[in-house]
Amino acid sequence: MKIVEENRSIRDLNTLKLAGTAAAYAEVHSRNELTEVLQQTHRKPYRIVPLGEGSNVVLGSMLNVLLLRYMKQGFKVIDESTEHITLRVAAGQNWHQLVMHCVQNEWYGLENLALIPGTVGAAPIQNIGAYGVELNQFVVSVSGVFLPQHNTNQACEVFQFSVSDCHFGYRNSIFRGELRDRVLITSVDLKLSKKFNPELGYPALSDFLHNEYGSNSGVTPRQLCDAVIAIRQSKLPDPDVLPNAGSFFKNVIVSEKENHRLKTKYPDMPCFPVENSTHYKIPAAWLVEQCGFKGRQGENGIGVHEKQAIVLVNRGAEDNVTASELLSFAKTIQQAVSGRFGLELEIEPQIYE
Ligand code: FAD
Ligand code: NAP
Repeated sequence: MKIVEENRSIRDLNTLKLAGTAAAYAEVHSRNELTEVLQQTHRKPYRIVPLGEGSNVVLGSMLNVLLLRYMKQGFKVIDESTEHITLRVAAGQNWHQLVMHCVQNEWYGLENLALIPGTVGAAPIQNIGAYGVELNQFVVSVSGVFLPQHNTNQACEVFQFSVSDCHFGYRNSIFRGELRDRVLITSVDLKLSKKFNPELGYPALSDFLHNEYGSNSGVTPRQLCDAVIAIRQSKLPDPDVLPNAGSFFKNVIVSEKENHRLKTKYPDMPCFPVENSTHYKIPAAWLVEQCGFKGRQGENGIGVHEKQAIVLVNRGAEDNVTASELLSFAKTIQQAVSGRFGLELEIEPQIYE
């Protein structure tokens, strides 16, 4: 029988290393194990929350939930042609290891997404993206099971969503919206190319490659991956060394009119047109930095990283800092940005209280 741990400390389950306890925690490797866990817990007064490696969550200190991790790793090839290969990747697979494995095997597309922490199963939730590349460019389908609702023992119905069913958007999907905590993703089908077609549009990336190799043309997949890794390591705190959850705030999307208003008042404000729309994206990091928070320490060891104004860090992990302390500091930042720019910063990690 599968063992469900009750009153489980959450500290090692989230990269912010926030302190607290979850009512229960279980790891499953198959649908049979999932059924066993559900049979053991269906009369319990807690709901189920799927969890990956905990790199994009804020976990409350007294969570009345069963945190459920799907652990199966690896992939199999389900389709192949001279130009493409389609992989079915198990949800428990570490994302970065998959990216490196694909590059080694000469299956291309994921290079710009190197070193993003977390699992393959969590990647569709916010349609992970970096340096102008997003997961949805490769998704064929996402499969899993619907989780039973509170206190029922109904069998889990399976699903397979096509890419259009997933309603992918900018750091968004149906899984963050109407299906939040309603499904456990068990695998993701990804179609990769056998031809290397690098995306080098981001200045940070092209400048780095230029400096390193004198030119961008002729960059190899491995060089591109290494560049992404080097840039990220130079700017982002490693969660194993300094607890964090990556970007804490989403970039702000505004209308053309709003962008014009802001640009008139703040001519130095960076902004980027959003593809296939009349809207603009304003980097949250710039807004937070303008309000003087970059590198600032709050109370209890919570603070803003000195190189990345949207990364909140927890230097107080040993002192049992909790989600409410982190969120109260985040609110101070949100209020400052709202007061100065009239823009509302949305928190990116999923909050469970
Ligand atoms: P978790 O944090 O465990 O979970 C996140 C959400 O997914 C939760 O709501 C959870 O319920 C749900 N979930 C997890 N697994 C499943 C499953 N099997 N089925 C259903 N729901 C599930 N993100 C980017 O997009 N781009 C970046 O460049 C990036 N850089 C980062 C850098 C750092 C240093 C850090 C700490 C984070 C970064 N992130 C980035 C955020 C994070 O890496 C991604 O969101 C990642 O996909 C989270 O994976 P996880 O396994 O840790 O998910
Ligand atoms: P950066 O390269 O310094 O760029 C700053 C911001 O400007 C980013 O938010 C980026 O938007 C935007 N930007 C830059 N060039 C752009 C272009 N040519 N077109 C459109 N938008 C552009 O960013 P960074 O903070 O060092 O991060 C690098 C990449 O990794 C970014 O894509 C970022 O999203 C990703 N990242 C994400 C997380 C996370 O937790 N979500 C954490 C770390 C890094 P986008 O953010 O939309 O790309």
